[in-house]
Amino acid sequence: MSINVTEIFGPTIQGEGPKAGIKTIFVRVVGCDFKCSWCDSKFAWAESENSRKYSDEELIDELRTLCNNTNTRNVVLTGGNPCLYNFSNVISKLKDDDISFDVETQGSKFPAWLLMCNTIVISPKAPSSHQPNVFENICNWLSKNYNTLLKNKTNIAIKIPVFNNEDFEFARTYHFLTQSNLNIKLYLSVGNDNVDEKGDIAERILRNYKTLIEKVMQSDMKYVYILPQIHTLVWGNKQGV
Ligand code: SF4
Repeated sequence: MSINVTEIFGPTIQGEGPKAGIKTIFVRVVGCDFKCSWCDSKFAWAESENSRKYSDEELIDELRTLCNNTNTRNVVLTGGNPCLYNFSNVISKLKDDDISFDVETQGSKFPAWLLMCNTIVISPKAPSSHQPNVFENICNWLSKNYNTLLKNKTNIAIKIPVFNNEDFEFARTYHFLTQSNLNIKLYLSVGNDNVDEKGDIAERILRNYKTLIEKVMQSDMKYVYILPQIHTLVWGNKQGV
């Protein structure tokens, strides 16, 4: 089966989660089984004139060349939902080149190749997204793969964009996972409530960031990271950076 890709871009910085700031290349796939109301990647929901179907070998060649030419050793698989595809060949071949893979997904599907990734960012969607709650799915997968994730020392992040109070309460239900022996970190990310705004949006994002920080400080959450999407501060809503 081919891998349908919306865009490959970078190197740039990873703008969020446990590896925020790292030099990385992004592979954004076509297609998502969710349709979040505030999705900032709607352009990835379907094929476009810029999307392209890759065989495993073509994608391996392109990523190897791009990583070598740009001195990059980190690749992020994102979307859409990368878990709609099989990346096992791509990851296993490029691991031999010392290229490490991270994945960002919403927790609806957990293909076996996820266990080959260095960092797994699971981003369950809070009520404002109007999408299914996959809490049980995530907990079952973590519990089923507990020993392997522990042995591999996989970085696991639960990253939840927060837009309102209901989303905040939703995020609190994941806090108990930070007490696990697995390396699970909980990230609350400031929701970008206008993904169509042009130009500099840093002031709006930072205002919402401050509100979210204040909310967490007044809550009972102890082990939580609060971050804005760094790329939105630098580039606003621009695509491909
Ligand atoms: S899961 Fe991600 S890519 Fe899919 S609709 Fe939601 S925000 Fe967009």
